[in-house]
Amino acid sequence: MNRRTLLRGLAALPLSGLAATHGALAQSTARKGIVVAEELQKNWKSFLADGTDVPSVADKLKLSKDEWKQRLTPQQYSVLRDEGTERAGTSPLNDEKRPGVFVCAGCGLPLFSSAMKFDSGTGWPSFFTTIPGAFETSRDFKLILPRTEYHCARCGGHHGHVFGDGPAPTGQRYCNNGVALKFVPKNGGA
Ligand SMILES: [Zn+2]
Repeated sequence: MNRRTLLRGLAALPLSGLAATHGALAQSTARKGIVVAEELQKNWKSFLADGTDVPSVADKLKLSKDEWKQRLTPQQYSVLRDEGTERAGTSPLNDEKRPGVFVCAGCGLPLFSSAMKFDSGTGWPSFFTTIPGAFETSRDFKLILPRTEYHCARCGGHHGHVFGDGPAPTGQRYCNNGVALKFVPKNGGA
């Protein structure tokens, strides 16, 4: 995995968590990966800017087609509501490396922390794990071979596909359309 991302994630852990993680690291590399991924899933809120109010997944957002069209840009609508795919390399979020949280552009649900991101070189923002419960999945056969499609668990908006060729610690690659995401930096700005 991207070592900087790992270190950034560890730096955000409380000291006790860091010690526990280090203890487990010594046990085995496989175990290390699981612990790091679990810690990142637990501590994602430490990447939120102070006072940020985020919606809960239980508070489902259901809108009509017309309401979505008013709320989203045509590009966002194409991806989120029509399962479109943005052109590779077009998202400014490919180069986003600041600490923060990526939320759904449709409904604001937090989906990934910045510590879950890695540079896949594919031209789409990529992540090796997600905030727990953020997504639901389905199989799609659009490219003949089955792929696992994933969508926001709050508004149902399509985000991308998950593949099994990602980096440690999970081996997963969430290939996400940048236009379906909004980045909320921890330290404000942008
Ligand atoms: Zn959503």
